[in-house]
Amino acid sequence: MHMIVHLDLKGAPLKIAFLERVLSSIKKWGATGILIEWEDSFPYTGVIANIGSLTDASGDGMYTVEEVKHILYCAKENELEVIQLVQTIGHMEFVLKHPCYRKCQEKARSPAVLCPSQTNSQELVRTMVLQALEIQPDAKYFHIGADEVWHTAVCIKCQYRAIPNNLGPLSLYLEHIRDLALFIKQQRPDLTILMWDDMLRSTSANVLQHYKLGELVQPVVWNYNVKADFSINPQTWDCYRTIFPSSWVASAFKGASGSCEVYPNTDRYVNNQEAWIDEVQKVASVNFAGVVLTGWSRYDHFATLCELLAVSMECLRSCLHVWNKFMTNSCQRTALERKMGLTEGVLGQEFIHTMKIFMKLRDRSQQLLHSDLVATWLNPWQIEHGYTNPAHLELIANESITLIRELTALRSTIQRLLATVTGSRSTNEWVGTFITPLLKKLTDVQDLAIRRYNIDASVKPI
Ligand SMILES: [Zn+2]
Repeated sequence: MHMIVHLDLKGAPLKIAFLERVLSSIKKWGATGILIEWEDSFPYTGVIANIGSLTDASGDGMYTVEEVKHILYCAKENELEVIQLVQTIGHMEFVLKHPCYRKCQEKARSPAVLCPSQTNSQELVRTMVLQALEIQPDAKYFHIGADEVWHTAVCIKCQYRAIPNNLGPLSLYLEHIRDLALFIKQQRPDLTILMWDDMLRSTSANVLQHYKLGELVQPVVWNYNVKADFSINPQTWDCYRTIFPSSWVASAFKGASGSCEVYPNTDRYVNNQEAWIDEVQKVASVNFAGVVLTGWSRYDHFATLCELLAVSMECLRSCLHVWNKFMTNSCQRTALERKMGLTEGVLGQEFIHTMKIFMKLRDRSQQLLHSDLVATWLNPWQIEHGYTNPAHLELIANESITLIRELTALRSTIQRLLATVTGSRSTNEWVGTFITPLLKKLTDVQDLAIRRYNIDASVKPI
């Protein structure tokens, strides 16, 4: 079974030097390949140049054609299979947000879904896929995304097409996928095309057969839950077993615990791998081609950054270890564990350490901001009427001064660390999302406590 690590570059795309180290680490930990989701970091050219890195759509200045080729070269050096992922119907925000593609939106004011009935839509995604394939002449696999298509048959054109079709609105989605997959197969007959399976789960085998999807694609069945909440409908496997020659599974090692989490909970993600291993053993009749360990950087194009790869490497190693143990016999395990360096520090130790300090400071800040102390002696009524006990304000002032000083110092460290792994836009976004607003709230409280009530600003921190 393949063990593929997902690199989600739609948030905090990785600087080449860091990416090189990630690739050599995951190779050591037993990964067999990477699923590389470019989104707006791919150097699209020609009529679609505005959606990619040549116009610096992401703002992080990554990647040039040479850099993409270098990434592919480094993966090859590490004997890692590269599977490129280009979204082709859902999660098209990075394309459909541009005014020139608005007419291709399925739903007005929602840039998530491409309308499969617009004449330009199929051409647009074919151009994107072709450009990605062109840069990888020896590709064995390609992933067309196709998950979370929130709106089907919303526009008039789609409704008109869907009504006479007894397969309903999903027929338009399936036709779009079939036509695209047929086109890709014409270009590269030997290429294996993967797609996320969530839109297929409730589709009957007859319908999938009608569209000949089994001859065109392989499904990647994703589930990021822990064992207690993990379940795959057995009928899904019954259907996929008869339709597809192989199926893939997808777990998560980061970015699936909450849309604004900053640090991965290793136990939770390891538990998800174990849930999948139980499932894979349970449904032995399905031919599983591999597992994709997904590592989401954002929930969608407009969502905030979550769980950066730089602080998730230890978690990734633990997750890969679970799969390694499953696939390796007991005699080979000691050698494997030595190779994985389970007792050694991983890439990103300083980052992990700094992030843990940030989380503690954030907790302390929230405790102060939402404390009874503030609610009881510095609430809006008291501020308006200047009516409170200065002795209590001194406590608030002291704690806010300490927190501001420590957070300001930490901001410099995090900025420095972020700049080693990603571009300036993502660095500024992370700091501007997680630190700057917190500092502002603390400063507001500090100013109220100190200035309004004439407390000595040089009071010693607690
Ligand atoms: Zn439509």
